[in-house]
Amino acid sequence: MTAVLRVALPVPLLTLFDYLPPEAGSAQAGSRVRVPFGRGEMVGIVIDPAAEAVVGVKRLKRVSEVLDETPLLDAELLATLAWAADYWAGAPGEAFANALPLALREPRPLPATGREVWALTLQGRSARDARSRKGGSAALLDALADGPRAADDLAFALPEWRAAARRLVEAGLVEKSELEESSLPASPAPGPALSEEQAAAVTAMGEGFGRFQPYVLDGVTGSGKTEVYLALIERALADGKQTLLLVPEIGLAPQTVRRLRERLGVTIEVLHSNLAEGDRARAWLRARNGSAKVVLGTRSAVFTPLPHAGLIIVDEEHDASYKQQEGFRYHARDLALVRARAHGVPVVLGSATPSLETLGNVEAGRYQRLVLRGRPGATQSTRVQIVDMRAQRLDHGMSPTLMNAVAACVGRGEQALVFRNRRGYAPVLLCYDCGWHADCPRCDRPMTLHAGRRRLICHHCDNTMAVPLTCPSCASANISPQGQGTERLEEALTARFPDVPVVRIDRETTRRRDAFGEILDGLREDKPAILVGTQMLAKGHDLPNLTLVAIVGVDEGLHSVDFRAGERLAQLVVQVAGRAGRASKPGSVLLQTHHPDHPMLHALLRGGYGAVATELLDERRLLDLPPFAHQVLLRADALGRAEVDAFLSQAHIAIGPPEDLRIAGPMPAPMPLRAGRHRGQLLVEASSRGRLHAFLRPWQHALLGLPEARKVRWSLDVDPIDL
Ligand code: ADP
Ligand code: ZN
Ligand code: ZN
Repeated sequence: MTAVLRVALPVPLLTLFDYLPPEAGSAQAGSRVRVPFGRGEMVGIVIDPAAEAVVGVKRLKRVSEVLDETPLLDAELLATLAWAADYWAGAPGEAFANALPLALREPRPLPATGREVWALTLQGRSARDARSRKGGSAALLDALADGPRAADDLAFALPEWRAAARRLVEAGLVEKSELEESSLPASPAPGPALSEEQAAAVTAMGEGFGRFQPYVLDGVTGSGKTEVYLALIERALADGKQTLLLVPEIGLAPQTVRRLRERLGVTIEVLHSNLAEGDRARAWLRARNGSAKVVLGTRSAVFTPLPHAGLIIVDEEHDASYKQQEGFRYHARDLALVRARAHGVPVVLGSATPSLETLGNVEAGRYQRLVLRGRPGATQSTRVQIVDMRAQRLDHGMSPTLMNAVAACVGRGEQALVFRNRRGYAPVLLCYDCGWHADCPRCDRPMTLHAGRRRLICHHCDNTMAVPLTCPSCASANISPQGQGTERLEEALTARFPDVPVVRIDRETTRRRDAFGEILDGLREDKPAILVGTQMLAKGHDLPNLTLVAIVGVDEGLHSVDFRAGERLAQLVVQVAGRAGRASKPGSVLLQTHHPDHPMLHALLRGGYGAVATELLDERRLLDLPPFAHQVLLRADALGRAEVDAFLSQAHIAIGPPEDLRIAGPMPAPMPLRAGRHRGQLLVEASSRGRLHAFLRPWQHALLGLPEARKVRWSLDVDPIDL
């Protein structure tokens, strides 16, 4: 038997690829190799350097070049990635490609890991020339005024800085150099003395050092979670160990980085999507060689090598941005737990609103929960109030009560946020007079409105009904799909408040990289303004003059096709309530609803998120929904509806006798038509994780073999969070 090299290549195929050993040199597991593939070449990762060939070796091609003498990926990452590809039903090569920064996926030697540092030249410091400069150049000169700064640090504060740097190098005002890691650290600044409960949390979690133990740190915004993280990171540093700190996309503000650096006195390696690829690769490599002690990053930073791992923290663990929604659909929080187990280190999941998955693990005794009740950073508590929309005359979905509250707020010279709860919820039909909504009589869950076909469809049992012309409950003709876009809210508020700036903040208005920051900077001033926004505004940003948050679209969270909508709504209310009245002014939150007596809203007002979460978790247990059941969602789309239906029904047949699996569909997706493509889905559910995964791989292979599969785009989503 000839030994061959088994290699993962970045292609969306479930297989690994065998190659003959290279003419020169030898490769180890985890090394990159350059190999011929199709008509071109690819860079792959060696998974097994001495595998038994499955096909005749005569047909195999030879590895062209071994790129790394020592493995780039260590044994832990190799094992974790293989596990992840299997768990999330991904292509192994794509899982590996996700883990490596783009610059390391190219057939080039590794870049140096020294830190690229920029400083003013002598001429730049004398600065007569500098003062006349504008825009990016002025900003860069400004950023370097207090001394040299690392390139990745600059990239974070000034996204377009490289173009400015080129101009200023030509003018002789700035220069680049390489700095050794050891010369950067400063002395750490002391933090506040920890409160009793903070100290207790630190002590409790300190006992987990050196072994695998998940902790949940449960505390509202401002309760001092970050101070607890800092104390734990200090401890890991004192042991000479590395910490990985994951934050949601939106939480990674320059202020966070600065706070960590000043307090810890070490360089914070930041890994996020705005980083230039070269900088990202260097930061990744500094983590791999152990010189990076604290790594802060968003979702994909969960793949950072941690040879001296000591601690993993996932802040805002409930945040949906940890789930990758395309390509390799992994969940960074779940992967963080797998890595912590592999390294035998504690993992801390922090949140004011822990996910029901996490709370389920607390209930089961797998995670230990620590609660911070105090709010050392806040002065005032926020008042939450329900606004009954029934029998109120609405202006673009906003009630007079809401409008009056906004008027009073801007009248005091303060800022109001009108918040649209919208997360691609499927449309639900609602009576705007009595609050009736279309529920499936068989499932007691909302039916989805398919406006084009004038039908209501239950996504659980496929029950179909015609759209009624009048409300079945009060006979009013005032029935329509619930939901108002932010654009229309903006229009209505501008018309009503012509003298107050109305700022809309959503994906569209903040598409430019630094636009969001600029808008927020403008709002820090003590001036009246009205903000209109969606989820982007829910967390992380301190707006001292914001005192009123009004949430419209609460009902979509109460009556949604998506069983997670209630959890999301409760999380949202708590998160936005944390936005209002953060400084010295008291804040208030308005929840505008047609269902003022809804038990969930009352539970939220009375008992807060914890009470709601307990009820929701009981309900999930009763209905056998995640985290008590385990799901995989097959999605498909094509230009023609017929192709989608044909594929999904063959996929259904391919399941065979379902035995104890529960199958819903095939059915149209919540948005059945998007960008001209028809979309459909099939949901498979099992009571145990083992059962689901035993079914999954064979099914996936069967799907790959279906002729109908070639006429659609399809994907599998394990533990989907958007149904
Ligand atoms: P969280 O991360 O839970 O939002 P932070 O750790 O950022 O909370 O704390 C919120 C504010 O309270 C910060 O300004 C922080 O400096 C301050 N703070 C936290 N803990 C203490 C403490 N023990 N004593 C005084 N101030 C504190
Ligand atoms: Zn039904
Ligand atoms: Zn009605």
